[in-house]
Amino acid sequence: LVEIRRVRKSFGAHEVLRDVSLAVPEGTVTVLLGPSGSGKSTLLRCINHLETIDGGRIIVDGELIGYRQAGHNIHEMTPKQIARQRRAIGMVFQRFNLFPHLTALENITEAPIGIGGVPRARARARANELLDRVGLAAFAGHYPAQLSGGQQQRVAIARALAMDPKLMLFDEPTSALDPELVGDVLDVMRELARDGMTMIVVTHEIGFARGVADQVVFMDGGVVVEAGRPEDVLDHPQRQRTRNFLESVR
Ligand code: ATP
Ligand code: MG
Repeated sequence: LVEIRRVRKSFGAHEVLRDVSLAVPEGTVTVLLGPSGSGKSTLLRCINHLETIDGGRIIVDGELIGYRQAGHNIHEMTPKQIARQRRAIGMVFQRFNLFPHLTALENITEAPIGIGGVPRARARARANELLDRVGLAAFAGHYPAQLSGGQQQRVAIARALAMDPKLMLFDEPTSALDPELVGDVLDVMRELARDGMTMIVVTHEIGFARGVADQVVFMDGGVVVEAGRPEDVLDHPQRQRTRNFLESVR
């Protein structure tokens, strides 16, 4: 579903992604690991077109991100076309980014009604289903400030799902949470994976990677150092850099 080919990205003179290639088949989970500054967030942001790339290509569900092809010519997309592409990709950040002045339910219906043109009643019914799915059926009317961090993050996941994405990107979704709240969020993600959602997850939760990932990718210094099945990368890393990192997070 996702194909990343030889992607490069610099901020000024700093080359943050250097020739990154990666494939994520439909219905699979990829966990991205790597030290701070290795380019994990930047890679997710490029997939979701929050950043533009300097080289290479990113293809999601058969479409080049940010570009359209006409015969042999490749054109940049208009902002409107990019917005349409981005709607098919859900993203959940470390910080929950909910709208503080909207209830949990309103946070979820905002985009489907405002951007998707879904009728209000249908959007609300779907939001209630999604709240139920993330274990928060009783919290529809709560404002973010009335929810724990873990509950807020589950609302953020429900909000991303409300646009029926083909792909979900998670950037350290549990790293801002108190330890006792991490499990509920990981459970929701585990269930999503079981239901066949294609996911790319930046996380240092090695247990989640081991149990849920089809593929673990270790990045360092803007390159993919090592990628493979979790049991290979986590238990028998081939590269010293991977071993050092895994020791630091265990
Ligand atoms: P962390 O684990 O700390 O989240 P990361 O692997 O997600 O790290 P990135 O956030 O992708 O790393 O950042 C990679 C490098 O790119 C860092 O050196 C960062 O300072 C730099 N960088 C990221 N975004 C920008 C930006 N908008 N402008 C300039 N430099 C940036
Ligand atoms: Mg990051």
